Amino acid sequence: MSFSDLQEQRAVAEQLHRSLQRGRLAHAYLFTGPRGSGKEAVARTLAKALNCSEKDHDSCDRCDSCRRIDEGAHPDVYWVRPESKSRRIQVEQMREFMKAVNLRSSMGGVKVGIVVDADCLGEEASNAFLKTLEEPPAQTVIVLLTADPQRLLPTILSRCLRISFGPTVDRAVSPYRAQLLPLLAKFSATGEGKVANSYQLLAELTALLQEIRKETRTSIEAEMNLDRYEELEPKVRERLEEQLEARVEGEYRAARERLLEEMYSWFGDLLLCAEGADDKLLAHPDQAPAVRRVATGLTYPQACHDLEAIEQIRDSLSRNISETLAFEVGLLKLAQ
Ligand SMILES: [Zn+2]
Repeated sequence: MSFSDLQEQRAVAEQLHRSLQRGRLAHAYLFTGPRGSGKEAVARTLAKALNCSEKDHDSCDRCDSCRRIDEGAHPDVYWVRPESKSRRIQVEQMREFMKAVNLRSSMGGVKVGIVVDADCLGEEASNAFLKTLEEPPAQTVIVLLTADPQRLLPTILSRCLRISFGPTVDRAVSPYRAQLLPLLAKFSATGEGKVANSYQLLAELTALLQEIRKETRTSIEAEMNLDRYEELEPKVRERLEEQLEARVEGEYRAARERLLEEMYSWFGDLLLCAEGADDKLLAHPDQAPAVRRVATGLTYPQACHDLEAIEQIRDSLSRNISETLAFEVGLLKLAQ
């Protein structure tokens, strides 16, 4: 399949095709999306486009190279998947994979390493893989596929450019979106690169997060309604109160994650606009005019840098760095 054949994944296919034409392919991608959303098909087309001997930046489906990739028999395109029994990708499999990726291309093209169900990488296998992901060999593209990005180590997530194939679990719309987007629009419009603006945004986000925490607590308290028990044994009450705290913390974190996801797609849209993408490709098409205004004058490296800053916040939070510090460091990075 060529890029234009990928009708159902038109948005991502166009994005990759354009990056390829401009020679701006990332070293490592993370394709996220539910099962059946075409991640493997797009990864295969990308591998063919990088190695096709007939077409520039696309797949012809007929040449020797394209056919061998379709058959899974191309020496420069490596696939790794979970082993059937354990549903895990074993560390030995990753060692083999990296050995292959680090070999010189046997046909003079670009090597492509594809990890299917990357959420099945255990910690050991992930760690073994990190160095290659951080400094991939020249002329190599690594693509990770997953339906469940939350299960990947943050260190892996932060080293890949994420491409979303339709809704995944973590793409649920945040109920606080309407409050968040104007803050981001204002921040991006008043000129990034100013430390004062980063601190302004930090203050606004902190206030929003406090509000989210408060509302989360209020609704869980109302639902559990501990006051309805008049004569509770102190021990039982204590246990119920602990449960309440745990639920507040859990739901608050999930809400914060959705908020970060909205931030990520805002800056993702800026990147797409800086690349000249169509409105239809944006995660927030309703915000297109605002995004377009801001994206004028934004360079591609700056847009990539901004996305990394947001990913860094998420990475820090998952390593239990304090929330304030995680946001401060990430937002200051936006000002660099
Ligand atoms: Zn071909």
